Amino acid sequence: MTMTIRALTVRQPFADAITHGTKRCENRSRPIPRAAVGTTILIHAAQQAHASGVTAADLDGRGWPDTRGAVLAAAVLDSCHQAAEGCCGAWGFPGYWHWTLRDVTPLPQAVPARGALGLWTPPAGVLTAVQDQLEGLAEPASTGTSR
Ligand SMILES: [Zn+2]
Repeated sequence: MTMTIRALTVRQPFADAITHGTKRCENRSRPIPRAAVGTTILIHAAQQAHASGVTAADLDGRGWPDTRGAVLAAAVLDSCHQAAEGCCGAWGFPGYWHWTLRDVTPLPQAVPARGALGLWTPPAGVLTAVQDQLEGLAEPASTGTSR
């Protein structure tokens, strides 16, 4: 199946906070491009940590793997809104567009990839490696061959 699927690079520990934690709001300076609303995207962890110096321990994520330079998860890019008082709890910062995520699916194996700004299109090899894993996860037990 051919799909246009794009990726969003997020710095650690926030990529892990999406993949393994409760973060469902990405703070961005622009709204989601209209065509990307409601689509599945890949959550990619940047090589560099977030400039804020926030650590996984600060986010109750001591056990998070802190993988860098790899696709960690798939998620649905749900919607976006401008920050409003308390709208996204502790994950939403004032003064940003909040990109909300749902149906986060962590990949069993992180897929190494280089990141980019904005929503970017992963190379075919990365997409294949991700989609193979997602299809494996989605395989309905009912259609499996019984022995
Ligand atoms: Zn919000």
